[in-house]
Amino acid sequence: MTDTAPSRPRRILLKLSGEALLGGAECGIDADLLARLAEDIAACARAGTELALVIGGGNIFRGAKLAARGMDRVTGDHIGMLATVINALAMQDALERLGQPARVLSALAMNQVCEDYTRRGALAHLAQGRVVMLAGGTGNPFFTTDSAASLRAVEVGADLLVKATMVDGIYSADPKLHPDAVFYPRITYDRALRERLAVMDLTAIVLCRDNGIPLRVMSIFEPEALLRVAAGEDIGSLVEPGTES
Ligand code: UDP
Repeated sequence: MTDTAPSRPRRILLKLSGEALLGGAECGIDADLLARLAEDIAACARAGTELALVIGGGNIFRGAKLAARGMDRVTGDHIGMLATVINALAMQDALERLGQPARVLSALAMNQVCEDYTRRGALAHLAQGRVVMLAGGTGNPFFTTDSAASLRAVEVGADLLVKATMVDGIYSADPKLHPDAVFYPRITYDRALRERLAVMDLTAIVLCRDNGIPLRVMSIFEPEALLRVAAGEDIGSLVEPGTES
């Protein structure tokens, strides 16, 4: 397997699971978890890593779940995308309270609450040392925020996609249901596809693979994990575009 992960990534696209933002809260966002994540993100930005964030919305709404209860799927997905804007605004606020400049750019136009997403706008903010939150998913129904994260990672030229989620890496099966599941510290996108591992959805995986962007999957609950990844540490699982040797 060829090593494509940069030792110290210059620009990271960080995907935060919306569902994980629930933390210990019954609904919405766990304020302590949000504050701790904002501290890690701000410390990382201060240390010189450029950071673009895509935050999910599963802590508030998911279109597919609403559709299963009879709602029109497109309307459900619009609600899901709006949920991602709520999360992004909360993170912007948490970062700014720490003195870290941040901007929300939304794929859905709502310029009374945040800027519209343009690639040029995102790149300009990153060059100014601002953390950018790329909200509203891809702006299209029937996609996920994992796909949005992969798409934006390619667009802004991230050299690493980091997925911070409920589990600490990639396993052969769901470790909560299968305690004997095998942990994969390193794997290729092709193998993840072949073994149908729950890494990201197909669109997201293929976009990263075909554009040569490595993915690190790690726990959202582990303090300072992001700082360690930005410093080049090998934590969680790494998915690489290269072929297996
Ligand atoms: N969504 C969408 N298009 C996108 C991204 C997201 O329609 O490009 C909607 C979809 O309904 C999804 C919801 O927004 O279920 C929340 O995103 P996601 O489920 O990916 O969040 P996470 O799993 O990270 O909590």
